[in-house]
Amino acid sequence: MKFRTILLFGAPGSGKGTQGRILGAVPDYFYFACGDAFRNLRIDDPIGRIFIEYSSKGLLVPDETTISLWSRNIQASTVQGVFNPTRDTLVLDGIPRNAKQAEMLKDVLDVKGLLHLACLDEKKMIERLQRRALRENRLDDANLDVIKKRLDTYEKETKPVLDYYGSKMVHHIDSSKAPIEVLREILNVVVRL
Ligand code: ADP
Repeated sequence: MKFRTILLFGAPGSGKGTQGRILGAVPDYFYFACGDAFRNLRIDDPIGRIFIEYSSKGLLVPDETTISLWSRNIQASTVQGVFNPTRDTLVLDGIPRNAKQAEMLKDVLDVKGLLHLACLDEKKMIERLQRRALRENRLDDANLDVIKKRLDTYEKETKPVLDYYGSKMVHHIDSSKAPIEVLREILNVVVRL
């Protein structure tokens, strides 16, 4: 059985987490953020150590490690009953993050659409990240060089995921607007999927 899935897509600071958490609060939608799953690991977890090594440099964690963490979390959420695969739509944020991961997940995800949150204003994105660094204690957001590297990784490795799924699947959302406006645009798309 494949999971009915919506992918949240966009550069760091584009507001995926803000919107994803709102969607995840709606009954029959289950939100999973890959970055949160990494951050929730115990520091002595071997995957937690790998995560810190890569994320502190603005790099992606290797694919096998990432996909196994994802499977582990989805399985645990299913067993706990917080995710019901036969009823819920899975809202994924931050995974798949390159074409290889998309390929590795193709037999388990039934992707209904991609929401591409696009913010053309790089200054605004960087400001959002730096504010978040303080609020959420995110080390990878605190350093401007690391932020720049993550934006670069996004352009080079993550953007190709849009091509992998093809333009018919992609819905562009202007995420430079206020969060409530972005939410309206997202809901307009999601109710039709
Ligand atoms: P952002 O959207 O702000 O870049 P995330 O919280 O999604 O932040 O991710 C933080 C870091 O976690 C990434 O920079 C990367 O190192 C790692 N990471 C998260 N998801 C993945 C993934 N699917 N594949 C590889 N690395 C990931």
